[in-house]
Amino acid sequence: MTTPSAECVEEKTAVEKTADDHTAKHSYKRDPSQRVFVGRNLRMEKIRFFGFDMDYTLAHYKSPDYEIMLFNRTIEKMISMGYPEDMRKFTYDINFPVRGLWFDQLYGNLLKVDGFGNILTGLHGFRVLKPHEIDEFYPNKFLHLIHNRVIVLNTLFQLSDTCILANLVHYFDSDPNYKPTVDKTGVRQGDVFMSYKSIAQDLQAATNTVHNDGEMKRHVLENLEKYVVKDERIKPLLNLLRKNGSRTFLLTNSEYYYTNGIMRYLIGEDWTSYFDISVVDAKKPQWFAEGTVFRQVDVATGSSKIGVHTGPLQNNQVYAGGSCDAFRVMCKVRGKEVLYIGDHIFGDVLRSKKARGWRTFLVVPELEHELTIWTERHGLFEQLAALEANIGKMYKNLDGTADNKCQSMINDSVMAIRKVTHEMDQAYGKIGSLFRSGSRTTFFASQIGSLFRSGSRTTFFASQVERYADIYASSCYNLIYYPVFYFFRAPMMLMPHESTVDHCTLMKKSKSSKRNHAKAAEANSLPTQTSFCHEEEDDDPVSEEETRVGSPSTSDSEAITAITPLDKSFSDPTGTQSPA
Ligand SMILES: [Mg+2]
Repeated sequence: MTTPSAECVEEKTAVEKTADDHTAKHSYKRDPSQRVFVGRNLRMEKIRFFGFDMDYTLAHYKSPDYEIMLFNRTIEKMISMGYPEDMRKFTYDINFPVRGLWFDQLYGNLLKVDGFGNILTGLHGFRVLKPHEIDEFYPNKFLHLIHNRVIVLNTLFQLSDTCILANLVHYFDSDPNYKPTVDKTGVRQGDVFMSYKSIAQDLQAATNTVHNDGEMKRHVLENLEKYVVKDERIKPLLNLLRKNGSRTFLLTNSEYYYTNGIMRYLIGEDWTSYFDISVVDAKKPQWFAEGTVFRQVDVATGSSKIGVHTGPLQNNQVYAGGSCDAFRVMCKVRGKEVLYIGDHIFGDVLRSKKARGWRTFLVVPELEHELTIWTERHGLFEQLAALEANIGKMYKNLDGTADNKCQSMINDSVMAIRKVTHEMDQAYGKIGSLFRSGSRTTFFASQIGSLFRSGSRTTFFASQVERYADIYASSCYNLIYYPVFYFFRAPMMLMPHESTVDHCTLMKKSKSSKRNHAKAAEANSLPTQTSFCHEEEDDDPVSEEETRVGSPSTSDSEAITAITPLDKSFSDPTGTQSPA
């Protein structure tokens, strides 16, 4: 018979053993904050050109100071357009905005959706939409990504816009001078009707002015220490990447005067010597399509020289505009030999990959916070997994004879999952702001949750990262922790039939399984494969198709058709290009 103390010893040993196994399994991995995560295999030694965006990539802006500055300046522009002075009372809540939300201009709702447009959470102003409201607004809890209805708030520059939109809808809905219209598409004051769409359009106009009139950028240049993170790893990283003969280039939408100010602060007066090619005012995503005139910049005056630059691109020179085609011809480089590093899912990553076949590295600064919650609140994720496993167990032995009692038990578990999901979403925000009560669960309305997930479901933003980013990390400087010959390997992705059937499961034998066994035996007689890796190898010389102007690199062009018009319109304050 085992004594209680012996049981404790045995139990402790088992726990320790599990911990040891876990440690052994993960001991080869780097510190999470220094890691680069892999969506598709990428061999660093095959990259000949490392390209960098500047804003929010090489130059990271200090949060929340930078967002608050954008928030206040945009509000001032809107007041100057005739919006109420009360807008000055709006405050930027750092815990409120999360990237990737959709703003439905028809009904004025902020929506968190999954990769298919299914609605996960909805807010009207700061008020969380109740399930029946979502049903009324959006039958099937689904919304199409329609260009003239939905604005995707995908960029870091749009965090302040997200906050202003919620403030504006909340303000006009709460102000007794304004009455919501019966069709719920806006508010009315006497004869004046303001649709939510017109409010969003005015906000876009104000944001464009802030980004383009130069005042905001001059203010940043005058206060660099306040707004820009000076990362000492910038020189070592750029030197490291060029160590084996690879080249580096800067490709930014910012104008020369602004780029020069930021890069001098980060690197020094000789910043151009750290890049083989420097391109400013690129006008991405247009740069990856038809582009504009390629001109050399007169660094003494900051203005572009007349005429079109046609010769080879030279070190220490700065160019403006141009196009991917001109760049490819001048540098004699194939798309897959370029790794472009940027923070803009559409302007940097989606376009360069889909239109040009570049390899892509997406910078997602929020990752550090996301990983902190993932690790510190792991108990919630384990609870969720246990609840889902429990439902699986209940379903396992049910068939057509199951009664209402069984269904009720399952419904209870579903509600428990929703509760944990809400708790998980809260964990990604900070306690405070607005409450909602009166429903089954109480949670903070201002906390929309994670950038990547809502409970066990992933978001629209996450689906874009999975689809278009070969690798991603919280900072481009994480590359410094890897050798230049590193092989980034994507983790094996399992299909549902693989992830839910254990290897040790005993399958009932059937005729087809006997046939499969025969095939397996035949396969085993073949020479052993030296590698299980399924990297797409291609060392062929440049094909005619690759050198053809504008040749798409993938076949699923329907996806870009669906996303292009939308992202192009709002990810870009100018309406034609991304802000950085
Ligand atoms: Mg950028």
